[in-house]
Amino acid sequence: MTAMVNAMTVDVEDYFQVSAFESIIKKNQWATHASRVENNTYACLDLFERNQVTATFFMLGCVAEAAPGLVRDIVAQGHELASHGYSHVRVIHQNQTEFREDIRLTKKILEDLSGIAVTGYRAASYSICAQTPWAYEELSNAGYHYSSSIYPIHHDLYGDPNAPRLPFATPNGDLTEVPVTTARWVGKNWPAGGGGYFRLLPYWYSKTAINAVNSKDKAPVVFYFHPWEIDPGQPRIADTPLKTRIRHYSNLEKMQPKLEQLTNQFTWSRLDALIDLGNSTFKPQPIA
Ligand SMILES: [Zn+2]
Repeated sequence: MTAMVNAMTVDVEDYFQVSAFESIIKKNQWATHASRVENNTYACLDLFERNQVTATFFMLGCVAEAAPGLVRDIVAQGHELASHGYSHVRVIHQNQTEFREDIRLTKKILEDLSGIAVTGYRAASYSICAQTPWAYEELSNAGYHYSSSIYPIHHDLYGDPNAPRLPFATPNGDLTEVPVTTARWVGKNWPAGGGGYFRLLPYWYSKTAINAVNSKDKAPVVFYFHPWEIDPGQPRIADTPLKTRIRHYSNLEKMQPKLEQLTNQFTWSRLDALIDLGNSTFKPQPIA
């Protein structure tokens, strides 16, 4: 097995802020739901500390404003603080001006709270695509150095299976795009970077996929999950469609033990540490 350092990332948003609920819970109703993101993110920090993981936390600006102590603790514990936009609006639902204001506001909030430069961005639900040709140039102009906003798979809410699988220099602006990882088998891309797939499928599937990317592509994996995925006690949202219910609530109780296994069996670091921004590559890092 190739000993390689992979990238661990967390999208910091509350259980009711996810895109799958956006038609059921409007933003002006968010305040009526009990927030659990702060406690759940502290549980992620504990998990990482136990397993000697450093990670990148893509944080919503509105979550950061409500939990400034959490922002400072993420940075104090050696993790990377990065931007997930202000309030989880998909880029395809914004015009260029709205996107520009969103990414600049979020960067400023995170930097003011942490005192650290924020250079990474992840779009809500991997929503940078052909319909948003201005996005990378706007990110670059706003001072971001990389984006991790593509998951090259088939999915009804996100994903473009024809997008590049490995990091690339973006066509507009001075920016590196680092897609969430897929494994290539029988001419198709298969999810290897987490999301619901990690929680819903058996652990051996993710382990096999990560090993395949590390050994065949000789590339690090970019993996992601959400703090609400390790919270089986979260309140259940009423009137959700069956498909959403299955995706959001299945195997929540299995997620924490699975993550313990994953963080134990592989070596993980923050995303910015694995990117060579000078030439837009994603470098395998030797384990120190
Ligand atoms: Zn998100």
